[in-house]
Amino acid sequence: MQKIGHFIDGKHVEGTSGRFADVYNPATGEVQAQVALASQAEMDAAIASAAAAQPAWAATNPQRRARVMMKFVDLLNRDMDKLAEALSREHGKTLPDAKGDVIRGLEVAEFCIGAPHLLKGEFTEGAGPGIDMYSMRQPLGVVAGITPFNFPAMIPMWKFCPALACGNAFILKPSERDPSVPIMLAELMIEAGLPAGLLNVVNGDKAAVDAILDDETIQAVGFVGSTPIAQYVYSRATASGKRAQCFGGAKNHMIIMPDADLDQAADALVGAGYGAAGERCMAVSVAVPVGKSTADALIEKLAPKVEALKIGPYTAGNDVDFGPLVTKEALARVKGLVDQGVKEGANLVVDGRNFSMQGYEDGFFMGGCLFDNVTKDMDIYKTEIFGPVLSVVRAENYEEAVDLPLSHEYGNGTAIFTRDGDTARDFASRINIGMVGINVPIPVPLAYHTFGGWKKSGFGDLNQHGPDGFKFYTRTKTVTSRWPSGLKDGAEFVIPTMK
Ligand code: NAD
Repeated sequence: MQKIGHFIDGKHVEGTSGRFADVYNPATGEVQAQVALASQAEMDAAIASAAAAQPAWAATNPQRRARVMMKFVDLLNRDMDKLAEALSREHGKTLPDAKGDVIRGLEVAEFCIGAPHLLKGEFTEGAGPGIDMYSMRQPLGVVAGITPFNFPAMIPMWKFCPALACGNAFILKPSERDPSVPIMLAELMIEAGLPAGLLNVVNGDKAAVDAILDDETIQAVGFVGSTPIAQYVYSRATASGKRAQCFGGAKNHMIIMPDADLDQAADALVGAGYGAAGERCMAVSVAVPVGKSTADALIEKLAPKVEALKIGPYTAGNDVDFGPLVTKEALARVKGLVDQGVKEGANLVVDGRNFSMQGYEDGFFMGGCLFDNVTKDMDIYKTEIFGPVLSVVRAENYEEAVDLPLSHEYGNGTAIFTRDGDTARDFASRINIGMVGINVPIPVPLAYHTFGGWKKSGFGDLNQHGPDGFKFYTRTKTVTSRWPSGLKDGAEFVIPTMK
């Protein structure tokens, strides 16, 4: 059985805790590897290696650090197929979607090539007589990222690329479900010229996370995962004085106005609801058609599309729409929520629970499910299902439709499909959600903007990537300087003001 260890100080290191987790091939249901779960001592070794390497890296000029990122981008492109295959084999998503996972991370590495510009400080000449004032952004030191299973390439890169470009050392604790790609990324960073010790990948579970949260060297923690763990990580990290940004779960609504192009809306819903088997924090899981005729027509268009979805293993290449769920437990949980929806009285228009694939009977597959007449009080509406299940909640008018995402506890993404500019503008302005699409179902901002949800989808005050990423991984120091020519008045006992 293949054993996956850690990557510390520029080398592969075997796990020594004696604890391992199974890594599955979700398409076949087989255990394909075992990943080591780090002990406190292993985490301490990684942090020590990072702390030793960081000062010299911080003193390396930002252009040289950016050149490492440039080379890293080249290497990601060189190894794209290999990375995508390893990713699909452990996660289950299709190969084109796995490449998308890598590319959305690569784009953040590209943005980080602009580090010299992004790290430029501020300067005021003549802030007072003979006085200049300047602010600089300095790295925090050793920082950490804890990432989820559903984007094992993209989310680690969203975190370590800006952190490293800013001059920090990084400890990555990736998901134990799909640990291979994060280690491959760390190898590529070394090949790109990153000195050893600056990017350590430590595999593990709660014990490794707690070791990060309680450590006194680590200055900041970036987390992405489910809301209860995001809240836990945020409160424990901040209690020990760390900077933290923790992104959680989602329930993304898409409103379909009566004037929308319904064919376009139905296509958008199928891609955004069922792509990656619904295991995306930006997946659309609730469709809100406005008015009975919009709802009836939408269901009529959606049902055959959902029935026709092509489900299969990643080895089928481009010929599948989505693959299996990540684990047997995830599959049982999603099917259980569909059972619950039926019990609660929602109308299951397409039932994918009994999907089975010849030759892959032990894989964690299920077909797409489509619910109509879901209501606000149902568990399937309140809970993040994280599977290939789309719920239609009918609204009588625009106000009733907007009230659904406005009053839902999650606030990651949302979308509206309409031809009316006033309605779209009103929606974008009023909605209390971090990322908004207008005729765009999955509005994931590009690398030079920032990504982050509101309400229970995000804790902390800065977003991921874009300019916020550089702010999160640096702190400001402001220097006020006066040279002797300005020192003429002797001692001053009153706080200086610009009268
Ligand atoms: P998860 O919360 O189970 O795990 C995330 C990370 O936390 C993993 O590294 C895991 O090892 C660690 N972890 C798990 N249990 C822990 C515990 N008890 N104590 C400490 N650490 C623990 O999430 P997941 O299942 O890997 O990912 C899916 C979730 O992530 C979904 O809720 C999805 O919406 C969310 N997500 C959010 C975003 C976003 O940007 N908001 C992006 C992707 C995924």
